[in-house]
Amino acid sequence: MSPHGRAALVTWCAPAAFLAAVLGGVAVVFSRPLALLWVVLGALVVVPTGWVLVSALFPGKAERRCPACAGETLVRLDVRTTQGLGCRACGWRDESASAWLLAEEEGPLEEIVLAQRGRHGAGPMDSSRRSG
Ligand SMILES: [Zn+2]
Repeated sequence: MSPHGRAALVTWCAPAAFLAAVLGGVAVVFSRPLALLWVVLGALVVVPTGWVLVSALFPGKAERRCPACAGETLVRLDVRTTQGLGCRACGWRDESASAWLLAEEEGPLEEIVLAQRGRHGAGPMDSSRRSG
């Protein structure tokens, strides 16, 4: 299924899913199941812990697939910034797209971040030039 078809399917199914969630909540309130309390409390512990573990063990990777031609050909438009993506194959461009993960994979980010802040050569622990 294409990304547009998937998005359209989610858009059409979202109101029904929200209505089902509300009806499910009403059914839970009226039936008062005590076991559900422990399930919810367990989920409140397990889900955040699992999220942290998965995020730590499987860090994000840069998406290099072009949204226009679906080739693995995305590159940063400007190597001095972390914004702007372009496709080498079809010429697609997005100047406002984040290229942070691509820049992170391609080298150290400190020089780019310091250059964008206008603080060339500053150390990592220095304070701002502005007082107060
Ligand atoms: Zn492309």
